[in-house]
Amino acid sequence: MAPTDTELLSHAIAEARAGRATGGIPIGAALIVDGEVLATGHNKRVQLDSPILHGETDCLAAAGRLPASVYARATMVTTLSPCDMCTGAILLYGIPRVIIGENTTFYGGEDYLRQRGVEVTVLDDPECIELMREFIAAEPALWNEDIGEDA
Ligand SMILES: [Zn+2]
Repeated sequence: MAPTDTELLSHAIAEARAGRATGGIPIGAALIVDGEVLATGHNKRVQLDSPILHGETDCLAAAGRLPASVYARATMVTTLSPCDMCTGAILLYGIPRVIIGENTTFYGGEDYLRQRGVEVTVLDDPECIELMREFIAAEPALWNEDIGEDA
């Protein structure tokens, strides 16, 4: 039986928690192909001093180079509404489906994804919301840096 969206989200949440536990920003992602987890990743701004390793882009990097036919069967699962950079990466590789944990604490490029034909599901997951609320309250400057704003 195919895993449910909530089951798929649990892989991204585990990554978000791992990121927070190592001093980073709690956003995680998983790339699912044919019902299996192909790769996972989490935001590594702090850990690797990287402005480009968000949850989704770290996950894509972990998956390595893939044929277009694999991206075409993939689902990107992310704990938080994808930013403009990650929205662009999803579109670039033609990933047809995105599952989003929550878009309450941050609303990214999901309208544009839909406009470009991507199927977007928002789960409004309380655990994802709480992870981000706790983090934004504790580290507001770090959060602003991640979304390209001054504190
Ligand atoms: Zn991003």
